[in-house]
Amino acid sequence: MPKRVLDISNVAYRWPGRAGFSLTVPRLSVAEGESVLLLGESGSGKSTLLSLICGTILPDSGKVCIAATDTSLLSGGARDKFRAEQIGVIFQQFNLLPFGSVLDNILLPLRFAPARRKRAGNAAAEAAALCAALGLPEDTVATKAIALSVGQQQRVAVARALIGHPPLIIADEPTSALDANSQAAFLDLLFSQTTTHQTSLLMVSHDPRLGERFDRVIRMEDIAQIKRAAA
Ligand code: ADP
Ligand code: MG
Repeated sequence: MPKRVLDISNVAYRWPGRAGFSLTVPRLSVAEGESVLLLGESGSGKSTLLSLICGTILPDSGKVCIAATDTSLLSGGARDKFRAEQIGVIFQQFNLLPFGSVLDNILLPLRFAPARRKRAGNAAAEAAALCAALGLPEDTVATKAIALSVGQQQRVAVARALIGHPPLIIADEPTSALDANSQAAFLDLLFSQTTTHQTSLLMVSHDPRLGERFDRVIRMEDIAQIKRAAA
């Protein structure tokens, strides 16, 4: 059986406060090297689920295992470090440091993750190689992120997620602001890297047309039960 990079069992979470949104996910796993597209409407809890996977929020019950480690058993600081080691995250809004250079942004996750930094070897050289692979001109490395086009910022966000080859890449609607051509180009770049390094990919979208490129497509309504408190 292939190794599982992500394994969720019987996870339940309820956001505190009046909205009272709650989510339960009986099972979800992603195998080593597998690419999975998670589809769901806006408000169906996709980003909440990704936060549970990343350990930025903790389930009320159930288990989230990353690389066979139950992340809820780690202390806060250890969990932050574990996340930086194991997961490359591409946020919907990219979340780049606006006044950091492209290189600063790409190297950021290595600061908190010694094993990942070691895997990156000569980190500046790996960052430059990623930029080249992602079609970012060499002279952009020293440019401030704020001066880049949206398409370039997205490439930086991808390079930051990929540096040091974390076993799992999580991407939250990274293509939602792009036209169809740019979407396809973005996925080409992402897949060229994840395929080479047997990286697992869990990407969230509300666009079913992206599905054919992934090993597996799952729908929020099939893997999760959601509830909202009556208004
Ligand atoms: P999706 O990513 O599928 O659009 P989200 O996971 O962002 O869905 O949100 C699902 C629901 O969770 C929201 O409608 C809201 O009720 C609740 N929610 C999300 N983020 C928060 C938060 N930070 N605090 C309180 N409730 C939240
Ligand atoms: Mg979302």
